[in-house]
Amino acid sequence: MRIFTFDNSFIRELPGDPEQGPRVRQVDGALHSAVSPAAVSSPHVLAYSVEMASTLGFTPEDIASDDFARTFGGNGLLPGMQPYATNYGGHQFGVWAGQLGDGRAISLGELITEAGQRWELQLKGAGRTPYSRGADGRAVLRSSVREFLCSEAMHHLGVPTTRALSLVTTGDAIERDMFYDGHPRDEPGAIVCRVAPSFIRFGHFELPSSRGDTALLKQLVDFTIRRDFPELEGEGVALYADWFKQVCERTAILMAHWMRVGFVHGVMNTDNMSILGLTIDYGPYGWLEDFDPDWTPNTTDAGRRRYRYGQQPNVAWWNLSRLAGALAPLFDGTEALQAGLDHYAAVYQSHDRAYMSAKLGLETIRDEDMALAQSLHELLHQAEVDMTLFFRGLGDIDLAAPSLEPVWAAFYDDAKREQCAPAFDAWLMQYARRVALDGVPDALRRERMRAVNPRYVLRNYLAQEAIDLAEQGDASGIYALLDVLRRPYEDQPRMERFAGRRPEWARVRAGCSMLSCSS
Ligand code: AMP
Ligand code: MG
Repeated sequence: MRIFTFDNSFIRELPGDPEQGPRVRQVDGALHSAVSPAAVSSPHVLAYSVEMASTLGFTPEDIASDDFARTFGGNGLLPGMQPYATNYGGHQFGVWAGQLGDGRAISLGELITEAGQRWELQLKGAGRTPYSRGADGRAVLRSSVREFLCSEAMHHLGVPTTRALSLVTTGDAIERDMFYDGHPRDEPGAIVCRVAPSFIRFGHFELPSSRGDTALLKQLVDFTIRRDFPELEGEGVALYADWFKQVCERTAILMAHWMRVGFVHGVMNTDNMSILGLTIDYGPYGWLEDFDPDWTPNTTDAGRRRYRYGQQPNVAWWNLSRLAGALAPLFDGTEALQAGLDHYAAVYQSHDRAYMSAKLGLETIRDEDMALAQSLHELLHQAEVDMTLFFRGLGDIDLAAPSLEPVWAAFYDDAKREQCAPAFDAWLMQYARRVALDGVPDALRRERMRAVNPRYVLRNYLAQEAIDLAEQGDASGIYALLDVLRRPYEDQPRMERFAGRRPEWARVRAGCSMLSCSS
């Protein structure tokens, strides 16, 4: 394999832990600890992302080489790599949890591409680190397939996200109690190499701040701005204020995207919030199928539903306020931080409105249009209608003679469809009148709607089918999904089966409708 350029700025410029290796410990005054991936029995590259490989400069021959499987399975390093785990804290389910850190993620270094882009490579599931607490530092194949596929699917949907280069099976079994019900079983282990310009999380700032270590906090903020926000100018508190505002803005845009495509993250703890506004840490996530703002795929959160679909924009605001609290020692007063939070609300609102208007195919958005959207949401909920299929199909309805027929396939329950049909007909008449006001030709409206309403999303049952095959060593399901999800807004001939409603068997099957944090 050719020699890659690494510039490991995080560990070069920020203070590290003097102790090396995975002994579990509290790490004070340092943001990272040197630790190597632990060897696995037989690393095998089950799948990789062609786009990410080519962006990073790995050729198909590189991918096929023993070196690649060794490196991305955690059994070796390429020249220039310097493995480490980072130190962060976080609020989990609303409660301050103290030091968490990369318990099963090990960064290998920051690769600089020939085009000059910086991409940090991070193995997830590569063994114990000082931050593993009581756990094994490993990841099961099912959750690794889910992270690998969704990272790439989100990218192609145009949603900011960390990426994935490779999915390597380890040949080792690991024990998991999938539903925390006292029935652990052995499952195949795997390692995803995920990739992002930065894996810095809100929790990285919260930890030094919680310990009163303002010097370390300041060092991290200065580093983050310099490396990850090079477009920001100025200095001192004004620069910090601009930066916080940027973080708020990116987070707002991310939330608007999640709501647009019907994505539910499932575990929006502050340690799972990227400073770059990327979707990060794919765990018990899911896609809304029958539209329900109270839905969460995460069984661990089923009681309170803190992280349900409709709550995500508010949770992001709450998480940003925790970040603001952590940054407060660097500011004089709270005004600039409050301004950032207000900016979040304004940006979220404007993006949400713009996306809603685009989803409905409207030229401009007025307050009455948001009411129109709201009444549609209520109908979709009441009648158990598939969000993705309905919005995609809405463009096909002939507004000269509106009828629900083109979207019948979006209904999960025929009786509810019949029952709600008059309300839908009334809504469609109102919608047709509204569309007519714009005077946009039908074909153009349809084309615009198709650009924001995906035809293909990574439904949990589709991921589960790919996992079932992967557990037999067969990557064909993964590649079939990667392929179709590469162009989620295009109708693809012979791919209808990936665009269908969730089948009835998947309503109750584990992994399809219910997921736990066990991974
Ligand atoms: P998550 O809920 O996946 O975001 O994880 C929360 C925290 O638990 C992070 O500090 C993780 O690194 C850690 N963690 C989760 N699973 C494991 C594991 N199998 N081994 C070690 N640490 C883990
Ligand atoms: Mg996490």
